[in-house]
Amino acid sequence: MDNCIFCKIIDGAIPSTKVYESDRVIAFLDINPIEKGHMLIVPKQHWKNLAEVKLDTEKEIEVYEELMYIVRVAARAVISTGFAAGANILQCNNACAGQTVDHLHFHVIPRYGSDAVSVPVFTSGAAKYEDGEAAAIAEKLAKAIETIVKEEELL
Ligand code: 5GP
Ligand code: ZN
Repeated sequence: MDNCIFCKIIDGAIPSTKVYESDRVIAFLDINPIEKGHMLIVPKQHWKNLAEVKLDTEKEIEVYEELMYIVRVAARAVISTGFAAGANILQCNNACAGQTVDHLHFHVIPRYGSDAVSVPVFTSGAAKYEDGEAAAIAEKLAKAIETIVKEEELL
């Protein structure tokens, strides 16, 4: 994709500090880390974000599977080697959710137990349901999930 900064990193036109690379997936350090070792796990195929991933071809399925695999491995690697005490996985879909680079990526952020990073999105509890609203919302979401699962015929 023209003008995509991560496509340029994949092509080698922009340098990056790589931690993993295969034919399908690349992972490199975030240029503006939340914590030391903050990695971005990126498919070489240009999808805008997770919600835009299409699994229509064998190749797309393989890319997606390896992407999710490396997200898991990266989190496991920082913890199992004792590099960090924990890790956050973060992935943003669209600008309103904080997406600034429109090429799918997962943040894997090592956590050391002594940092001051807070994760407000996971702790806010700011939204409150009216009576019956949670059930209605769950029904809507359940239908939407069921529709896509049927459409994609992957399960
Ligand atoms: P988003 O907010 O879209 O989830 O995250 C985009 C991330 O990409 C940010 O954390 C930002 O620091 C990182 N980033 C943006 N441009 C570059 C770049 O040229 N190189 C690297 N390594 N990271 C970048
Ligand atoms: Zn791209």
